[in-house]
Amino acid sequence: MKATFSNVVELPEKPIDVKYFGNLKEKVIDSGLCSHCATCTTICPVYGITAGDKPIDFPNWEEECIDCGSCVRVCPRWDYKPLSGLGDYIEILAAKSKRYKGQDGAMVTEIIASALEMELIDASLFVDRTEDWQTKVVTIRKPKQLEKGTASGTKYSFADVMPEMRRAVFRAKKGLGFIGTPCMVSGLRKIQKEVASFREKVNLAIALFCTENFYYHQLKEFLEKKGVDLTKAVKTDITKGKFIVSLENGEEVKFPVKELEEIVPSGCKHCIDFTGVESDISVGSVGSEDGFSTVIVRTEVGKRIIDFIREKGYAEFSEADVSVVEKLANFKIKKNKKNLENL
Ligand SMILES: Cc1cc2nc3c(=O)[nH]c(=O)nc-3n(C[C@H](O)[C@H](O)[C@H](O)COP(=O)(O)OP(=O)(O)OC[C@H]3O[C@@H](n4cnc5c(N)ncnc54)[C@H](O)[C@@H]3O)c2cc1C
Repeated sequence: MKATFSNVVELPEKPIDVKYFGNLKEKVIDSGLCSHCATCTTICPVYGITAGDKPIDFPNWEEECIDCGSCVRVCPRWDYKPLSGLGDYIEILAAKSKRYKGQDGAMVTEIIASALEMELIDASLFVDRTEDWQTKVVTIRKPKQLEKGTASGTKYSFADVMPEMRRAVFRAKKGLGFIGTPCMVSGLRKIQKEVASFREKVNLAIALFCTENFYYHQLKEFLEKKGVDLTKAVKTDITKGKFIVSLENGEEVKFPVKELEEIVPSGCKHCIDFTGVESDISVGSVGSEDGFSTVIVRTEVGKRIIDFIREKGYAEFSEADVSVVEKLANFKIKKNKKNLENL
């Protein structure tokens, strides 16, 4: 008998006559469309789908996939309808947390800390890192956990947030905060349509502006050729067309981000959503001065949190230059539109 999930819904038509994971593999993964958002991993009832630092896979799917169709139903690249632009929003501003340190203005960290303090959520998953910058997903339950350590800050490689989500959603009582790249937020929205617990529990979704992400092993290998020992790195950043690694001795290794083109995963080359239009709040670097984050407030829940931060005086506010965000959003469309033409 098939899983309950698929008994109560109409399953998508199969383009090829194999189990559903075989269809996902052919149509999304092997075709180069997969963004590695890993939403499929969190829904698979037999825990067969794997993510990590390699393409999405289900070893032995011919035998072990129970053909329930859940993976294709939550995949944002199955029947892909690319989103783009600035999206709907209530306000766009620049801000800098007075309490936390982060990649830019630490506003992602501030928003989650404030949402915890408001008791809107009781936890959020963060992407922390190991000493050599491999991503490591951690659960943040108290603002204090964000005061030091490396949970804040950008790691330019895929992270297993989605594979952790099933457990996190199960444990959450009041609500759960979600932070991810635009494709991860699209995956979240798709699974929320399908699964009540995700809909009811994940009540705050923050998208990070994104041009591209990387497989850790490929980025590490590339950086090693540039002489970078990641264990000595304190920050990695992409800004004004340069990839910059800041080292603990104060030195910086800089090179044009264009040099990374050959290791940009194919799925990122099929994405035109720079700002994460499906989020409650999007946060990025471009559009505000150094040390500030650009914040796009899209929904009422997002506005409540920003109003709370204002009232408490937790952040310094300034104006964002929307035209710069628009320029980058259009640049991503221009760069990748060609790849979408044959969909
Ligand atoms: C892969 C990637 C590409 C990006 N590209 C751009 C870009 O082209 N232009 C731009 O303006 N901004 C980009 N950003 C966003 C930017 O780097 C900052 O994350 C953003 O400005 C928020 O800064 P902050 O100081 O407010 O965040 P902080 O308070 O430092 O918090 C950062 C948050 O990001 C989370 N995080 C870190 N790495 C990852 C990851 N790999 N996957 C999911 N979550 C992660 C952390 O858990 C933390 O919650 C990118 C981010 C990522 C992860």
